[in-house]
Amino acid sequence: MPENSVLAKLDEVKDRVARAMSEAGRADQEIDITIVTKTIATERLLPLLHQGNKIFGENRVQEAQHKWPDLKQHFPDIDLRLIGPLQSNKVKEALALFDMIETVDRPKIAQRLAAEMDKTNRRIPCLIQVNIGQEPQKAGVAPLEALKFIKQCQSDWKLPVKGLMAIPPANQPPAPYFALLQKLADQAGLSYTSMGMSGDYAIACQMGASEIRPGSALFGARG
Ligand SMILES: *Cc1c(COP(=O)(O)O)cnc(C)c1O
Repeated sequence: MPENSVLAKLDEVKDRVARAMSEAGRADQEIDITIVTKTIATERLLPLLHQGNKIFGENRVQEAQHKWPDLKQHFPDIDLRLIGPLQSNKVKEALALFDMIETVDRPKIAQRLAAEMDKTNRRIPCLIQVNIGQEPQKAGVAPLEALKFIKQCQSDWKLPVKGLMAIPPANQPPAPYFALLQKLADQAGLSYTSMGMSGDYAIACQMGASEIRPGSALFGARG
């Protein structure tokens, strides 16, 4: 693909988002478009960075550590989000590098993260990942456990919980799962939801998403 075709793809995504938001009567609302850059080499990100895009997502701490510290020096306004699993031995590194953690899904991680925030005095917003389709292979707190876990994160560990994140089951209509995540967020008194990827971001926009996470829609299929 030519170097700046990624900019054309991003324009297409933004157009579709604007249409979906307007159809849903949400045209006046802000939505975060997190550009998912896992496996994508730095050269391919430069046009996006030079254009002034700020929100990026990586799913592996180690890959992000190779790619982003230099870029963040050059583009200090970057808002880098962890959208993949966080192991407890990577909490310190993750907090130092990322600006939002979207995958808090168990007490051990929440506790470690909160303790590290206290220690470093660096407090970043966190999302609780919900295993919205209750799939055994997926991370996330079960929907029925979510409210209790959110409360625990907030009151026991004082974690700055901003909202919820989920990945609905593949090969099923995502709308009911997006609706369930919105409902859980409402019940928890949280207003921020991260849901919708390349295949379903327009539906997510219609259903109230605060953040969508397109990857392959911008970069093509990952090798
Ligand atoms: C890879 C990934 C994405 C992007 O997926 P695409 O289908 O390429 O848009 C979004 N969210 C998470 C959590 C991911 O791991």
